[in-house]
Amino acid sequence: ILEGQSALITGSTSGIGLGIARLYAEAGAKVMLNGFGKPEDIAAARAEIGRLMGVAEAPYSAADMSKPAEVRGMVAAAEAAFGKLDILVNNAGIQFVSPVQDFPAEKWDAIIAINMSSNFHAIAAALPGMLARNYGRIINVASAHGLVASPYKTAYVAAKHGVVGLTKSVALEIAQADVTCNAICPGFVRTPLAEAQVPPLAAKFGVSEEVALKDHLLAKQPSKRWIEVDEVARMALWLVGPGSGGVNGSALSIDGGWLAA
Ligand code: NAD
Repeated sequence: ILEGQSALITGSTSGIGLGIARLYAEAGAKVMLNGFGKPEDIAAARAEIGRLMGVAEAPYSAADMSKPAEVRGMVAAAEAAFGKLDILVNNAGIQFVSPVQDFPAEKWDAIIAINMSSNFHAIAAALPGMLARNYGRIINVASAHGLVASPYKTAYVAAKHGVVGLTKSVALEIAQADVTCNAICPGFVRTPLAEAQVPPLAAKFGVSEEVALKDHLLAKQPSKRWIEVDEVARMALWLVGPGSGGVNGSALSIDGGWLAA
């Protein structure tokens, strides 16, 4: 369904971004990857997505999402590589957990820059081409924490609420073109970012990792199970597929019932 289309997915060397890259490439899109990691892991991701695209390796940008000029340069590189950019998925993100009074200021700045401001810079750079061609699909991977809060995640919650607000405002600006901007709001997804939060909870409460997962990390996720990367990727695929053009400015939850409570 994405034959002839091109996509740029930030933070796609791991987790949700890599899962979305897989489904987009399988659906026929040309995909540019971005993100950090060990050289061998990046090479493996490029080879895997490249194979799905029918090339030796998928194009890749090493742009740092905390650096506005690099974010905008990455969009320009994708347009140059593909001749146009149809799909932008702003997915790169980091987490840091601490009481607000101890929250390191540099962590606050990094989370706001990577999780929120990079979305602004990438959208600003990609929109002129999308509007000129009257086609574009923008997805911002926000979070359940873009809609409700939890303690000790001030920077993340602030950034993700900001992403949802940015999504709505952009959607209104582009509403009359065949360009959409939506947010996906996952609950806890089985990725390195979320799994890393389990051992500290087990230590803090003196319980096994299994109990820490169900009773503490997933305390607000009524399904009591991880959302899988592939489930989020399928939502991201639907949002760029046929018949999705009427969905604009939405924050779509995929959270095992979290927001219903
Ligand atoms: P992950 O750690 O597996 O992947 C994060 C990706 O972002 C990696 O490719 C990493 O290299 C990249 N990245 C980090 N900092 C970067 C930077 N400065 N520049 C470029 N790339 C950078 O995490 P994930 O769980 O797949 O997270 C992806 C997105 O989903 C994030 O925005 C996260 O906030 C969001 N999310 C995750 C969950 C969850 O439970 N895992 C829930 C809701 C939302």
